[in-house]
Amino acid sequence: MFENLQDKLDRAFKVLKGHGSITEINVAETMKEVRKALLDADVSFKVAKAFTDTVKEKALGQNVLTSVSPGQLMVKITNDELSKLMGGQAANLDLSANFTIILIAGLQGSGKTTFSGKLARLIKSKGKRPLLVAGDVYRPAAIDQLKIVGEQIGVPVFTDYESKDPVGIAEAAISRAKQEGHNVVIIDTAGRLAVDEEMMDEIARVKAAANPQEILFVVDAMTGQDAVNTAKTFNERLDFDGVVLTKLDGDTRGGAALSIRAVVDKPIKFIGTGEKLDAIDVFHPDRMASRILGMGDVVSLVERAQQQIDEKQAAELQRKIRKNKFDFNDFLGQLQQIKKMGNIKDLMGMIPGVGKAIKDVDLDNDSFKGIEAIIQSMTPYERQNPEVISGSRRQRIARGSGNDIAEVNKLLKQFEEMRKMMKMMNNPSKMAGLMRNMP
Ligand code: GDP
Repeated sequence: MFENLQDKLDRAFKVLKGHGSITEINVAETMKEVRKALLDADVSFKVAKAFTDTVKEKALGQNVLTSVSPGQLMVKITNDELSKLMGGQAANLDLSANFTIILIAGLQGSGKTTFSGKLARLIKSKGKRPLLVAGDVYRPAAIDQLKIVGEQIGVPVFTDYESKDPVGIAEAAISRAKQEGHNVVIIDTAGRLAVDEEMMDEIARVKAAANPQEILFVVDAMTGQDAVNTAKTFNERLDFDGVVLTKLDGDTRGGAALSIRAVVDKPIKFIGTGEKLDAIDVFHPDRMASRILGMGDVVSLVERAQQQIDEKQAAELQRKIRKNKFDFNDFLGQLQQIKKMGNIKDLMGMIPGVGKAIKDVDLDNDSFKGIEAIIQSMTPYERQNPEVISGSRRQRIARGSGNDIAEVNKLLKQFEEMRKMMKMMNNPSKMAGLMRNMP
């Protein structure tokens, strides 16, 4: 996410970080580089200029020039301003009412249907009873698509293949939802390839009839400045409540995330980070700012981990580690849990400083495949008692998993090291000795 921008900002700040004392000229030069980086990321000139002017003013106001570490202070000010630019606080979806209607609008292909499914899944996981509504009367394939999504997440979908009247469909769906005890209605609407008057008029009519509490505008982050312009047009017509930026997992330059708030003055509420139905995150401007500046996003990482970890399992694992009984079954379980947390490269990018270091490394969830295959080629007894895995067993495992014996040896060695480390952690006096020997 935003690797290019990250790189360029990093380079911009290098100038400042290297100097013992800095001058107003250094600050101005750095800000010029920052502005260039923002423009390259497809942020509009007006937004980029206003941004760098503010940072410069704040920096000089806060006596960056005489501070102990001017570079760091500048990064902090930039970080705070970036966060403010994107809205500051995370904006929540208000689901406190007994019955909430959410209208989803946006161009065709922006990711509306996928997002409708993601949102329904999220809302369902909070104990609500959502109903999805297929409001695209022009493309039967779009209705089918929403139906499939609904089946995947176990949420019913209201469809009417015969009707050509989106207003009627929305009204019928809402009364059905009330009858059947649903408390959230998510209406997916028809999009066009470009903004057109007929589409706008249709959505405006659906809005008037359905009277939604929440209108979310979905836009593809990869479309950069176009995303911002489309947002402006939709906002003028619909006065929406929030933006959903999709496809942030792709090679987006980030301009839309940075400028939409400033241009339409509506918060980004959610981001889409993949095609799968769990690839959705609440948008946190502060965390995003830290990520953009290569400062990592540990809070999100911990949250993702928490979502996956089952307390009982974790307690059992702890018990095993304490008793030196951690085996290959546990190891495999851990790998699988990490994979469930999302794309491994994305996850590692949330660790401060790591994102940049691994940006050219070819790393994906398939990287675990070799290791998994090796463990899966072990017998249950071997998995529980790795110490019995002798030369001939190693050869059999290598053959069974389609690996070199060297790979099997490597994994066994790493596993042994890991067990040693765990043993050491169980023994505080040894651990203290180890720490003393550290540089
Ligand atoms: P709609 O026409 O607005 O309903 O858009 P769709 O929901 O059909 O999405 C269009 C395409 O974008 C599909 O291939 C989706 O799988 C894909 N897509 C949607 N959201 C995301 C996302 O967050 N990341 C990625 N990589 N693809 C997405």
